[in-house]
Amino acid sequence: MKKHNFNAGPAILPEYTIEKSIEAIKDLNGSGLSLLTISHRSKDFDAIMDGAVAATKRLLDIPEGYSVIFLGGGASTQFYTVPYNFLGKKAAYLDTGSWAKGGIKEAKLFGEVDVVASSKDKNYSYIPKGFTIPEDADYFEICSNNTIEGTEILEDWDVKVPLISDMSSDIFSRPMDVSKYSLIFAGAQKNFAPAGVTIVIVKDSFLEKVVRPVPTMADYRVHVSKNSMQNTPPVFPIFAALKTMEWMEQEGGVKEMEKRAIARSEKLYDELDRNKLFKATVEDPADRSRMNITFLLKPEYEELQDAFLELAKARGLVGIKGHRSVGGFRASCYNALPMESVDALVAALQEFEKAN
Ligand SMILES: *Cc1c(COP(=O)(O)O)cnc(C)c1O
Repeated sequence: MKKHNFNAGPAILPEYTIEKSIEAIKDLNGSGLSLLTISHRSKDFDAIMDGAVAATKRLLDIPEGYSVIFLGGGASTQFYTVPYNFLGKKAAYLDTGSWAKGGIKEAKLFGEVDVVASSKDKNYSYIPKGFTIPEDADYFEICSNNTIEGTEILEDWDVKVPLISDMSSDIFSRPMDVSKYSLIFAGAQKNFAPAGVTIVIVKDSFLEKVVRPVPTMADYRVHVSKNSMQNTPPVFPIFAALKTMEWMEQEGGVKEMEKRAIARSEKLYDELDRNKLFKATVEDPADRSRMNITFLLKPEYEELQDAFLELAKARGLVGIKGHRSVGGFRASCYNALPMESVDALVAALQEFEKAN
């Protein structure tokens, strides 16, 4: 049976990335060696690393004065690396859910944390508005796409202090204005590569603001000066990231990725708004994630939860159970997800409505 991969992460990747990875694992560029067995100091790998940095810069139209590095460890590692480097006295955070809280928790180890606003009062089902960011904060950190709760910040905000964003689950899903940010980080396994690498885009002038001595592997300045080669980088995930970037460029870049994300998510939200059994957990269309569409059975139909999961399984819909912390359902619709998979989910929602 054809499987429709709605996994939240690790998640769907383009066939192109999988095929090119298989080829390279067998034999990289006719070298007679597997990608998995080459030196990270080889010319072959230099080309992969340089290619991935250059493709990131092209795709996101990154201006001069920014560096792109590929680090081991997940996005969670950045939760402490950011404050380790930049939280001197006080930092501001926006509490939009589980991953935002991950950053807040670690920052408290290093200094004062001002949580400027929170959407906790409504289970993180909206993006807080109308808050004030203290002008003496060392930085303001947000999570642009709340993978678990299904909200997304789709604008590049203008703020008076350095802006930092965890874009783990929506990087490369829209054109963006990188110049608004001092640092962006994104774990790979949601939207561009297998787990094991995190991309960091950092403004070079921000690196002059490091507030304390930092261990080598947590020091952004080291990784920038060593082109992500201070130690052995995650060779395979970086190769796969490069292949996904090639695929995105061939398909029309992040503009086209955005077009597809809008088409997929609108189709799903329209069905959820119409269907008598289900509802989207995020009500305000402006706050709805295009990447992670979270939904529930209405209270009067709640007992049908397991029955819908059964139907989903029978129709080849993989990964639509909501995160264990929030329940319900979640359809993660990352860049590589074809519209045909969204159509299959919509058909299942309609079939289930008819049967109940
Ligand atoms: C998945 C995720 C993380 C954690 O990523 P790891 O690579 O598992 O550490 C952090 N932030 C967001 C927004 C995520 O979606």
